[in-house]
Amino acid sequence: MSTNFFKTANMIVEKIEDAGFEAYIVGGAVRDHLLNRGVHDIDITTSAPCEKIKEIFSHTADVALKHGTVIVCYNGEAFEVTTYRGQTLIEDLKLRDFTINAMVLTKAGDIIDPYLGREDIKHRLIRGVVNPRERFREDPLRMLRSFRFVSQLGFSIDQTTFAAIQSESSQITKVAIERIASEFEKIFLGANAKKAFQLLNSSSISCEIPQLKEISKSLSDDNVIFSISSLKNITEVWSLLLFISEVQDCQTFLRCWKQPKKVINEVDSMISRLPMLLKRGFNEEDLYFLGLETVEKAERVRALLKNEAPNIHKVTSQYYSLPIKDKKQLAINGTDIIDLLKDEKPKERIGQVISLVEKAVLTQVVENKKKAIIHWLREEGYVNA
Ligand code: ATP
Ligand code: MG
Repeated sequence: MSTNFFKTANMIVEKIEDAGFEAYIVGGAVRDHLLNRGVHDIDITTSAPCEKIKEIFSHTADVALKHGTVIVCYNGEAFEVTTYRGQTLIEDLKLRDFTINAMVLTKAGDIIDPYLGREDIKHRLIRGVVNPRERFREDPLRMLRSFRFVSQLGFSIDQTTFAAIQSESSQITKVAIERIASEFEKIFLGANAKKAFQLLNSSSISCEIPQLKEISKSLSDDNVIFSISSLKNITEVWSLLLFISEVQDCQTFLRCWKQPKKVINEVDSMISRLPMLLKRGFNEEDLYFLGLETVEKAERVRALLKNEAPNIHKVTSQYYSLPIKDKKQLAINGTDIIDLLKDEKPKERIGQVISLVEKAVLTQVVENKKKAIIHWLREEGYVNA
């Protein structure tokens, strides 16, 4: 973690203090700092209301004003500055999810830790602040966040906190699927996903999330969960899980999980090609239609299913030696084809002929030269002029 990041955060703290308010670095950044982990974002908690923060700083963005959060851009970095929930710092910390996330770091470098987060860090425990049942009722997503921290940190869940999950698990249905999906992504991609899923499966919460039903068998298979740890992103994880679980309609499944369009399309095209990839590896059309980024992802999933080490270098060099990478690189275009189609209805045929040429060029049946392509189209009888 760059000390500069903390230095800049402290400049913000100072400016807020100069305006007569309290401000502290809080939450994940403090936890990760104590754990010597990389810090990717710094949150600041303050007694100042949002309007004051917007007056103090010239570059701000309103992302979640109704939750009391303003983004402050300073020295090229962005910080979430949130007004205390509750009247005081201690009340604000009490309303946070876990003790390890309920500490602040002062400008002088001291830790304020009223709920003994440092003790829990020492014992590698995730513990709800003061009364876990109350915390989970306030925001049931916190139950999933506990498994997410198991996955990311390798910690265990404290007994009382786990018991609270057991008794409040049905509350999870109140949470928007987007928030659930975001925590699952972190559970899948954490270094200790296997431990997190073992705990998750021993809790009653997975049965309360209907969107998990189609993949629940795979998620309770230790080998599947262990293999996920070699994957690098959510596209690969979904592809593996949906393929193994034989989910028939991947698009609908992922739409239910409110996944981004890019992820849905990538997973869909990967899964439709996976059976062939497993049989014979990548051919020119797989490489071309998947594109470089997805080819790398597909290779990781293919290799995992075959129990092999992925060979990213091999597939990327195969990709780079394709005669064309994009339709636009074809030596012939739509206008040329219209001329060649004479009196046929070009609109209907044009796409068809382009696809034929694309395939022929890719598979090196014909060279990507205009003359050669026209000659080939005539020879094969695809055009009549
Ligand atoms: P990371 O940023 O590494 O994903 P984080 O702990 O910083 O982990 P954020 O979502 O950035 O998580 O939230 C910042 C802090 O806000 C948390 O550390 C916690 O104190 C508090 N927080 C976030 N979400 C919740 C929640 N649902 N309930 C209670 N407190 C929360
Ligand atoms: Mg954070």
